[in-house]
Amino acid sequence: MTHSHPKSHPWWKSIPLYLQIVIALPFAVVLGLFLGSINADTELVKHLAIPCDLVLKALRALATPLILLAVVHSFLTANIPGKSGRRLGFLLITNTLAAIFIGLSVANILQPGKWGNIKSSTSTAAAVNKTLDPWALLQDMVPEAVLKPLVDNNVIQLILIALTFGIVLRAIKAEQIGHGKKDYESIEQVVTILFEAIIRILHWVIALVPIAVFGIVARTVALQGFEPFKSLGAFIVAVLIALFLQACYYLTRVTFSSWVTPVRFLQGGSDALLTAFSTASSTATMPVTFEALIEKIGLRESSASLGALVGSNFNNDGTALYEAMSALFVAQVLNIHLSLPQQLIVVLTSIFASVGAAGIPEAGLVTMTLVFTAVGLPTQYIALLVTVDWFLDRCRTAMNVMGDMTVSAILDGKRRKTKVEMEIFEAEGDSDASLTDVL
Ligand code: ASP
Repeated sequence: MTHSHPKSHPWWKSIPLYLQIVIALPFAVVLGLFLGSINADTELVKHLAIPCDLVLKALRALATPLILLAVVHSFLTANIPGKSGRRLGFLLITNTLAAIFIGLSVANILQPGKWGNIKSSTSTAAAVNKTLDPWALLQDMVPEAVLKPLVDNNVIQLILIALTFGIVLRAIKAEQIGHGKKDYESIEQVVTILFEAIIRILHWVIALVPIAVFGIVARTVALQGFEPFKSLGAFIVAVLIALFLQACYYLTRVTFSSWVTPVRFLQGGSDALLTAFSTASSTATMPVTFEALIEKIGLRESSASLGALVGSNFNNDGTALYEAMSALFVAQVLNIHLSLPQQLIVVLTSIFASVGAAGIPEAGLVTMTLVFTAVGLPTQYIALLVTVDWFLDRCRTAMNVMGDMTVSAILDGKRRKTKVEMEIFEAEGDSDASLTDVL
């Protein structure tokens, strides 16, 4: 979903967000070093975290309506034929589970959170112990009141509500279409407009991220020097390794389950992957992905639209991997050992959080607050990740898009599109029409 901006924007708005963050970083370091060297009043320095706290609070507040609307919107508007729908669902879930498994394994083996020294507070450790019980989480799945998960930021309850409403509204829509009625259209429009509204508000909050990064980096440098950034460096390396392994997993699946060769897949899909990296938005990349799958890789239109248009609403493997790794990283930083059942909660919530993450820049950061809340990790530590998210977001977005491409290639099967099929497609020349149908 892209939005055109009127021309009268202030000049700084034309600087891309990542560049604003990159510019803010050295200034923050200089300020931090200065405040550290003059032993500035610690209380005052601590207040530098206020912008970051506010941004995180706003993100937390937006996360629940975002997930609710994203899921309901997908159910209401996506065009999924029955049998392929089940196949699609199976592919999506196995890919996401593989991504989380890879992410957690890399984080457990490399232990990036142990590489530096970040001060932790005892109160946060206590918060973790309180809520990390998988059975309690299971018992807690059904909310006491319909709106309660929205208020409590409870991601599992929220997904249950979102799925229930999504499924029932979809069924009502199908019945009404069967009877030639159109009442469902108004609810579809309301959901669509609310979804767009929440994404616009999210854009406002995200526009403040450079200020938040500035404050939090200056504060960290002033109080703790560069030690915390050592573990962040290790975290970046760990995430990159995990994303690389995920890419290898995709290529292996494509090799065994589709007619497309890995070279063709990468060459044909390079435009989409690069666009994803440069925009940090899989939704903005969607048309490029669709085009690349059909024109360059040569998939059937039906497989491309199922994987890249429908699937991409639910499929954010890169985000799932990142959210799981972040939770583990912060637990390591705080010296908290997450047991296997506890990591299972991270798996479960990361799946849901990735499904609910919209395909826009930094969306993973928004839904990450829900993963942290579910396992009782303190969300203020997400502030640390904010400093590197502008880069890692691009990398995981490329992986989200590669995941959509993989699903499409597998759905296309082991038999390449025949000449006759190609001629029919060219004669119809309706790829644009179907694109807008699904979008
Ligand atoms: N930026 C990602 C995307 O568009 C979502 C995320 O932040 O993880 O796919």
